[in-house]
Amino acid sequence: MYDYIIVGFGIAGFSFAQQLEENKRNFVVFDNNSQQSTRIAGGMYNPIILKRFTPAWQAAEMLPYALLQFQKAELKYQNKYIHPIDIYRKLASVEEQNNWTVASDKPVMRDFMQEITYKTIDGIKAPFGFGVLKGTGIVNVTKLLNDAISRLKKYEQIISDDFDYAALQIFDEYVQYKNIKAKKIVFAEGFGLKNNPFFKQLPLMGTKGEMLMVETETPVPHIVKSAAFLAPNIENKKQCYVGATYNWEDKTNRPTETAQKHLEKKLAKLYDKAYKVVLQKAGIRPTVIDRRPLVGTHKKYKNLAVLNGMGTRGVILAPTSAKILFKHLEFEMKIPEEMNSNRFDKP
Ligand SMILES: Cc1cc2nc3c(=O)[nH]c(=O)nc-3n(C[C@H](O)[C@H](O)[C@H](O)COP(=O)(O)OP(=O)(O)OC[C@H]3O[C@@H](n4cnc5c(N)ncnc54)[C@H](O)[C@@H]3O)c2cc1C
Repeated sequence: MYDYIIVGFGIAGFSFAQQLEENKRNFVVFDNNSQQSTRIAGGMYNPIILKRFTPAWQAAEMLPYALLQFQKAELKYQNKYIHPIDIYRKLASVEEQNNWTVASDKPVMRDFMQEITYKTIDGIKAPFGFGVLKGTGIVNVTKLLNDAISRLKKYEQIISDDFDYAALQIFDEYVQYKNIKAKKIVFAEGFGLKNNPFFKQLPLMGTKGEMLMVETETPVPHIVKSAAFLAPNIENKKQCYVGATYNWEDKTNRPTETAQKHLEKKLAKLYDKAYKVVLQKAGIRPTVIDRRPLVGTHKKYKNLAVLNGMGTRGVILAPTSAKILFKHLEFEMKIPEEMNSNRFDKP
């Protein structure tokens, strides 16, 4: 008898597994590689919405715990995942400069938003300067997942296969899946939740995102935000991520020519030197109608739980959401209403 089955091993499944390992619970993971959101994410952590200069929901509060969890993973797997990098928000006008200055004086914001700089970055013209954001950076989530999966494979704790929902039998004290018994099961399938008969009624919209990897003539030392993000590839200093697109119609993981053109147009406006596209990737962000995570249990079966809805900020939200779910399942701790998946239960 396992303590848990986890279905899905993106950043949400990983974060829950980390809780289980820390609390000495045994578990087995299923992953079928059908969703790519975590693997193609830029891995950026930034608690400020850079369009409007407002704090993202709970992000500043959750960031320290996220970084702590990734630091623990660095020690465990003896690898480096966290790369602190400032964000340079290109300012477009005097009005934006004023907005930046006003916002940077507000609580929460002042911890991240710094002074305006006129420092030059080769290839990027910014006559109104950049607002500098500190305390931000990139988590190499792909490397982190690869290391975690290698370790799970070593201990035969991961099954690379589809989880077949029809084969799940639910009893009061445990669940049975084929020859596996576990006290509880946590579903963390990202947009794959749409195929899950126990939770598919949850209003997960799914927002397709595409990004390009480009080789630039000159290195870009910071994350630069204008109409698009330009972020250094920490694995290869000659390359940058350009992202990302938002598409609410297409639910496939296939890269499209339309997105490539769209991103290249934005890149050309931002970066005036030569570049070459070397890669294009696409994935579906598990976004929820009210933009809050989905954390909780099934209305009828309390040993079935969901950990989803990380939206555009999985790096910051997943570790705290996983901790909250674990404490709820083990110690009946209350899940904050804003993220409790039962907010969508019909009476
Ligand atoms: C282009 C792009 C850029 C992004 N940039 C950032 C960023 O910079 N910072 C940030 O914080 N967030 C970013 N995000 C959002 C972030 O990627 C998501 O919030 C996060 O990855 C969601 O993680 P998840 O574990 O819930 O889902 P996923 O990563 O989709 O993982 C779900 C897993 O479940 C598995 N699965 C599904 N169904 C089944 C099944 N039936 N059986 C077995 N396995 C199954 C899938 O194969 C997958 O491995 C970005 C997203 C995109 C698309």
